[in-house]
Amino acid sequence: MSDRESIQLAIQQTLENYQRCGLSWIPNSDTLPDDWTEALTALERRSATGDVTTQPSSPAIPATGAQTSTGSTRPSPASPLTAPQSSTTPPSPTSVAASHVPAAPSVQPSTAGSGQWDTEELDDTARRNLFQILDQDIRGCQKCSEICSRRQQTVFGVGPIRPTVCFMGEAPGADEDKQGEPFVGRAGQLLTRIISAMQLRREDVYILNALKCRPPGNRTPLPNEINNCQPFVETQLETLRPKYIVCLGSVAVRSLLKRDTPVGQLRGKFFDYRGAKVIVTYHPSYLLRNEDAKRLVWEDMQILMRELGIEVPKKK
Ligand code: SF4
Repeated sequence: MSDRESIQLAIQQTLENYQRCGLSWIPNSDTLPDDWTEALTALERRSATGDVTTQPSSPAIPATGAQTSTGSTRPSPASPLTAPQSSTTPPSPTSVAASHVPAAPSVQPSTAGSGQWDTEELDDTARRNLFQILDQDIRGCQKCSEICSRRQQTVFGVGPIRPTVCFMGEAPGADEDKQGEPFVGRAGQLLTRIISAMQLRREDVYILNALKCRPPGNRTPLPNEINNCQPFVETQLETLRPKYIVCLGSVAVRSLLKRDTPVGQLRGKFFDYRGAKVIVTYHPSYLLRNEDAKRLVWEDMQILMRELGIEVPKKK
Protein backbone atom coordinates (compact mmCIF):
# COMPACT_ATOMS: atom_id res chain seq x y z
CA MET A 1 0.00 0.00 0.00
CA SER A 2 1.40 3.40 -0.97
CA ASP A 3 1.84 6.24 1.53
CA ARG A 4 -1.06 8.07 -0.09
CA GLU A 5 -3.32 5.04 0.20
CA SER A 6 -2.26 4.54 3.81
CA ILE A 7 -3.08 8.15 4.64
CA GLN A 8 -6.42 7.92 2.87
CA LEU A 9 -7.29 4.75 4.75
CA ALA A 10 -6.30 6.32 8.08
CA ILE A 11 -8.43 9.38 7.37
CA GLN A 12 -11.37 7.24 6.29
CA GLN A 13 -11.13 5.18 9.48
CA THR A 14 -10.92 8.33 11.57
CA LEU A 15 -13.97 9.80 9.88
CA GLU A 16 -15.90 6.59 10.41
CA ASN A 17 -15.00 6.82 14.09
CA TYR A 18 -16.40 10.32 14.18
CA GLN A 19 -19.58 9.10 12.54
CA ARG A 20 -19.96 6.43 15.19
CA CYS A 21 -19.39 9.14 17.79
CA GLY A 22 -22.34 11.11 16.46
CA LEU A 23 -21.13 13.29 13.61
CA SER A 24 -23.89 13.18 11.03
CA TRP A 25 -21.98 14.45 8.01
CA ILE A 26 -18.59 13.31 6.84
CA PRO A 27 -16.75 14.50 3.76
CA ASN A 28 -15.65 12.01 1.13
CA SER A 29 -12.00 11.20 1.80
CA ASP A 30 -11.30 10.99 -1.95
CA THR A 31 -11.97 14.69 -2.25
CA LEU A 32 -10.57 15.77 1.06
CA PRO A 33 -8.35 18.83 0.54
CA ASP A 34 -4.87 18.63 2.01
CA ASP A 35 -5.44 21.66 4.19
CA TRP A 36 -8.19 19.86 6.10
CA THR A 37 -5.58 17.81 7.90
CA GLU A 38 -5.24 20.28 10.72
CA ALA A 39 -8.98 20.51 11.22
CA LEU A 40 -9.26 16.75 11.30
CA THR A 41 -6.41 16.52 13.77
CA ALA A 42 -8.26 18.92 16.02
CA LEU A 43 -11.41 16.84 15.72
CA GLU A 44 -9.42 13.75 16.54
CA ARG A 45 -8.10 15.34 19.73
CA ARG A 46 -11.62 16.28 20.71
CA SER A 47 -12.75 12.75 19.99
CA ALA A 48 -10.00 11.49 22.27
CA THR A 49 -11.28 13.70 25.08
CA GLY A 50 -14.85 12.60 24.45
CA ASP A 51 -16.08 15.98 23.28
CA VAL A 52 -16.94 14.92 19.77
CA THR A 53 -19.65 12.58 20.97
CA THR A 54 -21.64 15.63 21.83
CA GLN A 55 -20.02 18.25 19.61
CA PRO A 56 -21.13 19.07 16.14
CA SER A 57 -20.30 21.96 13.74
CA SER A 58 -21.38 25.52 12.58
CA PRO A 59 -21.88 28.11 9.84
CA ALA A 60 -19.63 28.86 7.07
CA ILE A 61 -17.76 32.09 7.55
CA PRO A 62 -16.33 34.00 4.64
CA ALA A 63 -12.61 33.59 4.43
CA THR A 64 -11.77 37.25 4.25
CA GLY A 65 -14.70 39.04 5.74
CA ALA A 66 -17.91 38.92 7.66
CA GLN A 67 -21.35 38.17 6.39
CA THR A 68 -23.76 41.00 6.30
CA SER A 69 -27.40 40.57 7.03
CA THR A 70 -27.99 40.35 3.33
CA GLY A 71 -25.47 37.59 2.93
CA SER A 72 -22.91 39.70 1.07
CA THR A 73 -19.27 39.72 2.07
CA ARG A 74 -17.56 42.80 3.30
CA PRO A 75 -13.87 43.32 2.79
CA SER A 76 -11.91 42.36 5.85
CA PRO A 77 -11.46 45.53 7.90
CA ALA A 78 -8.58 46.31 10.16
CA SER A 79 -9.56 45.39 13.68
CA PRO A 80 -10.34 48.41 15.76
CA LEU A 81 -9.46 46.30 18.74
CA THR A 82 -5.85 46.25 17.83
CA ALA A 83 -5.79 49.64 16.17
CA PRO A 84 -8.82 51.69 17.16
CA GLN A 85 -9.88 54.06 14.39
CA SER A 86 -9.62 57.49 15.90
CA SER A 87 -11.65 58.82 13.01
CA THR A 88 -14.47 56.44 13.71
CA THR A 89 -17.50 58.37 14.74
CA PRO A 90 -19.05 56.80 17.75
CA PRO A 91 -22.46 56.08 16.54
CA SER A 92 -25.35 57.46 17.99
CA PRO A 93 -26.95 55.15 19.62
CA THR A 94 -28.10 53.62 22.54
CA SER A 95 -29.42 56.11 24.89
CA VAL A 96 -27.00 54.63 27.34
CA ALA A 97 -25.09 57.23 29.24
CA ALA A 98 -21.74 57.09 30.94
CA SER A 99 -22.05 56.63 34.65
CA HIS A 100 -20.23 55.09 37.53
CA VAL A 101 -17.76 52.48 36.34
CA PRO A 102 -16.37 49.92 38.76
CA ALA A 103 -12.64 49.37 39.00
CA ALA A 104 -11.23 46.61 36.80
CA PRO A 105 -12.60 43.40 38.26
CA SER A 106 -10.64 40.28 38.99
CA VAL A 107 -11.41 37.06 37.12
CA GLN A 108 -13.67 34.65 38.99
CA PRO A 109 -13.42 30.92 38.41
CA SER A 110 -16.49 29.59 36.65
CA THR A 111 -18.30 26.43 37.62
CA ALA A 112 -17.62 24.94 34.21
CA GLY A 113 -15.03 25.22 31.50
CA SER A 114 -12.35 27.04 33.48
CA GLY A 115 -8.69 26.57 32.62
CA GLN A 116 -7.24 26.51 29.14
CA TRP A 117 -8.53 25.44 25.74
CA ASP A 118 -8.35 21.67 25.26
CA THR A 119 -6.84 21.68 21.79
CA GLU A 120 -4.09 23.41 19.90
CA GLU A 121 -4.96 26.68 18.23
CA LEU A 122 -5.89 26.29 14.56
CA ASP A 123 -4.80 28.51 11.70
CA ASP A 124 -7.45 30.45 9.78
CA THR A 125 -7.87 27.86 7.03
CA ALA A 126 -8.32 25.01 9.49
CA ARG A 127 -10.83 27.10 11.45
CA ARG A 128 -12.92 27.71 8.35
CA ASN A 129 -12.79 24.08 7.35
CA LEU A 130 -13.80 22.95 10.82
CA PHE A 131 -16.67 25.43 10.76
CA GLN A 132 -17.90 24.03 7.46
CA ILE A 133 -18.08 20.61 9.04
CA LEU A 134 -19.74 22.00 12.15
CA ASP A 135 -22.27 23.97 10.08
CA GLN A 136 -23.31 20.88 8.19
CA ASP A 137 -23.73 19.03 11.44
CA ILE A 138 -25.88 21.77 12.93
CA ARG A 139 -28.03 21.95 9.82
CA GLY A 140 -28.76 18.26 10.19
CA CYS A 141 -29.25 18.33 13.95
CA GLN A 142 -32.53 16.90 15.21
CA LYS A 143 -31.78 16.85 18.93
CA CYS A 144 -34.59 19.20 19.92
CA SER A 145 -37.64 17.64 18.30
CA GLU A 146 -40.09 20.50 18.86
CA ILE A 147 -37.61 23.11 17.67
CA CYS A 148 -36.06 21.48 14.64
CA SER A 149 -39.43 20.55 13.13
CA ARG A 150 -40.49 24.20 13.08
CA ARG A 151 -37.29 26.10 12.30
CA GLN A 152 -36.83 27.64 8.86
CA GLN A 153 -33.08 27.29 9.09
CA THR A 154 -30.28 27.04 11.60
CA VAL A 155 -28.35 30.14 12.62
CA PHE A 156 -24.67 29.42 13.07
CA GLY A 157 -23.05 32.73 13.93
CA VAL A 158 -21.28 35.51 12.11
CA GLY A 159 -18.04 37.42 12.38
CA PRO A 160 -14.31 37.20 11.86
CA ILE A 161 -12.65 33.82 12.15
CA ARG A 162 -10.13 35.21 14.67
CA PRO A 163 -12.12 37.56 16.90
CA THR A 164 -10.99 39.27 20.06
CA VAL A 165 -14.53 39.62 21.38
CA CYS A 166 -17.56 37.34 21.07
CA PHE A 167 -21.10 38.37 21.93
CA MET A 168 -23.26 35.41 22.85
CA GLY A 169 -27.02 35.68 23.03
CA GLU A 170 -29.96 33.38 23.59
CA ALA A 171 -31.55 31.98 20.43
CA PRO A 172 -32.69 33.12 16.99
CA GLY A 173 -35.96 35.03 16.77
CA ALA A 174 -38.29 35.30 13.79
CA ASP A 175 -35.99 37.64 11.83
CA GLU A 176 -32.91 35.54 12.51
CA ASP A 177 -34.78 32.35 11.60
CA LYS A 178 -35.71 33.98 8.31
CA GLN A 179 -32.31 35.47 7.48
CA GLY A 180 -29.98 32.87 8.98
CA GLU A 181 -27.93 35.45 10.87
CA PRO A 182 -27.99 36.18 14.62
CA PHE A 183 -29.16 39.52 16.03
CA VAL A 184 -30.73 41.09 12.95
CA GLY A 185 -34.10 42.07 14.47
CA ARG A 186 -34.82 44.97 16.83
CA ALA A 187 -32.65 43.51 19.58
CA GLY A 188 -29.91 42.98 17.03
CA GLN A 189 -30.08 46.58 15.93
CA LEU A 190 -29.71 47.63 19.53
CA LEU A 191 -26.73 45.30 19.94
CA THR A 192 -25.14 46.90 16.88
CA ARG A 193 -25.57 50.32 18.49
CA ILE A 194 -24.05 49.08 21.73
CA ILE A 195 -21.06 47.72 19.83
CA SER A 196 -20.73 51.02 17.98
CA ALA A 197 -20.92 52.96 21.24
CA MET A 198 -17.93 50.89 22.34
CA GLN A 199 -15.98 52.33 19.39
CA LEU A 200 -16.11 48.95 17.68
CA ARG A 201 -17.78 47.74 14.52
CA ARG A 202 -20.21 44.85 14.35
CA GLU A 203 -18.08 43.14 11.73
CA ASP A 204 -15.10 43.10 14.10
CA VAL A 205 -16.77 40.95 16.73
CA TYR A 206 -18.18 37.45 16.51
CA ILE A 207 -21.87 37.04 17.30
CA LEU A 208 -23.51 33.75 18.16
CA ASN A 209 -26.35 32.31 20.20
CA ALA A 210 -26.63 29.57 22.79
CA LEU A 211 -29.20 27.87 20.55
CA LYS A 212 -28.83 27.50 16.81
CA CYS A 213 -32.56 27.18 16.13
CA ARG A 214 -35.55 29.37 16.92
CA PRO A 215 -37.77 28.09 19.72
CA PRO A 216 -41.43 28.16 18.61
CA GLY A 217 -43.04 31.49 19.35
CA ASN A 218 -39.72 32.84 20.64
CA ARG A 219 -40.26 31.07 23.93
CA THR A 220 -37.36 30.81 26.35
CA PRO A 221 -35.17 27.81 25.55
CA LEU A 222 -35.67 24.83 27.83
CA PRO A 223 -32.75 23.59 29.94
CA ASN A 224 -32.44 20.40 27.91
CA GLU A 225 -32.37 22.42 24.68
CA ILE A 226 -29.57 24.59 26.04
CA ASN A 227 -27.67 21.46 26.99
CA ASN A 228 -28.33 19.88 23.58
CA CYS A 229 -26.82 22.83 21.76
CA GLN A 230 -24.00 23.57 24.18
CA PRO A 231 -21.48 21.25 22.47
CA PHE A 232 -21.91 23.20 19.24
CA VAL A 233 -21.24 26.43 21.08
CA GLU A 234 -18.27 24.94 22.84
CA THR A 235 -16.74 23.80 19.56
CA GLN A 236 -17.35 27.21 18.03
CA LEU A 237 -15.65 29.03 20.87
CA GLU A 238 -12.82 26.52 21.06
CA THR A 239 -12.18 27.17 17.38
CA LEU A 240 -12.50 30.95 17.55
CA ARG A 241 -10.45 31.38 20.76
CA PRO A 242 -11.81 34.83 21.68
CA LYS A 243 -10.10 36.69 24.47
CA TYR A 244 -13.38 38.09 25.73
CA ILE A 245 -16.91 36.72 25.68
CA VAL A 246 -19.94 38.86 26.49
CA CYS A 247 -22.80 36.74 27.84
CA LEU A 248 -26.05 38.49 26.91
CA GLY A 249 -28.72 37.25 29.28
CA SER A 250 -29.39 34.24 31.44
CA VAL A 251 -29.57 31.62 28.68
CA ALA A 252 -26.05 32.45 27.52
CA VAL A 253 -24.92 32.33 31.15
CA ARG A 254 -26.48 28.93 31.64
CA SER A 255 -24.90 27.57 28.46
CA LEU A 256 -21.43 28.96 29.03
CA LEU A 257 -20.98 29.24 32.79
CA LYS A 258 -23.48 26.58 33.87
CA ARG A 259 -25.10 28.99 36.32
CA ASP A 260 -28.71 29.82 37.07
CA THR A 261 -27.76 32.91 39.05
CA PRO A 262 -29.64 36.06 37.98
CA VAL A 263 -27.72 38.26 35.58
CA GLY A 264 -27.84 41.15 38.05
CA GLN A 265 -25.74 39.17 40.51
CA LEU A 266 -23.09 38.24 37.94
CA ARG A 267 -22.43 41.67 36.50
CA GLY A 268 -19.31 43.70 37.22
CA LYS A 269 -16.80 40.86 37.27
CA PHE A 270 -15.04 38.61 34.83
CA PHE A 271 -15.41 34.84 34.79
CA ASP A 272 -12.91 32.44 33.33
CA TYR A 273 -13.92 30.21 30.44
CA ARG A 274 -10.92 28.23 29.24
CA GLY A 275 -8.70 31.26 29.50
CA ALA A 276 -11.18 33.70 27.95
CA LYS A 277 -12.59 36.45 30.14
CA VAL A 278 -16.37 36.33 30.31
CA ILE A 279 -18.47 39.32 31.29
CA VAL A 280 -22.18 39.05 31.92
CA THR A 281 -24.79 41.65 31.09
CA TYR A 282 -28.43 41.95 30.08
CA HIS A 283 -29.76 40.78 26.72
CA PRO A 284 -30.70 43.58 24.28
CA SER A 285 -34.27 42.23 24.21
CA TYR A 286 -34.48 42.98 27.92
CA LEU A 287 -33.28 46.52 27.26
CA LEU A 288 -36.10 47.03 24.77
CA ARG A 289 -38.55 46.44 27.62
CA ASN A 290 -36.51 48.04 30.42
CA GLU A 291 -35.03 51.35 29.41
CA ASP A 292 -33.30 51.81 32.78
CA ALA A 293 -31.17 48.72 32.24
CA LYS A 294 -29.32 50.42 29.37
CA ARG A 295 -27.30 52.34 31.94
CA LEU A 296 -26.23 49.05 33.57
CA VAL A 297 -25.24 47.51 30.26
CA TRP A 298 -23.22 50.58 29.43
CA GLU A 299 -21.39 50.23 32.75
CA ASP A 300 -20.56 46.63 31.85
CA MET A 301 -19.37 47.55 28.39
CA GLN A 302 -17.14 50.26 29.83
CA ILE A 303 -15.41 47.59 31.91
CA LEU A 304 -14.74 45.66 28.73
CA MET A 305 -13.62 48.77 26.88
CA ARG A 306 -11.01 49.47 29.54
CA GLU A 307 -9.77 45.90 29.20
CA LEU A 308 -9.48 46.40 25.45
CA GLY A 309 -7.61 49.67 25.89
CA ILE A 310 -10.42 51.70 24.36
CA GLU A 311 -10.91 55.14 25.82
CA VAL A 312 -14.25 55.50 27.55
CA PRO A 313 -16.06 58.70 26.63
CA LYS A 314 -16.26 61.19 29.46
CA LYS A 315 -19.68 61.67 30.97
CA LYS A 316 -21.23 64.88 29.68
S1 SF4 B 1 -31.23 24.07 18.98
FE1 SF4 B 1 -29.18 23.14 18.70
S2 SF4 B 1 -29.34 21.08 19.61
FE2 SF4 B 1 -31.46 21.84 19.27
S3 SF4 B 1 -32.06 21.07 17.22
FE3 SF4 B 1 -31.17 23.13 16.94
S4 SF4 B 1 -28.98 22.76 16.49
FE4 SF4 B 1 -29.81 20.88 17.40
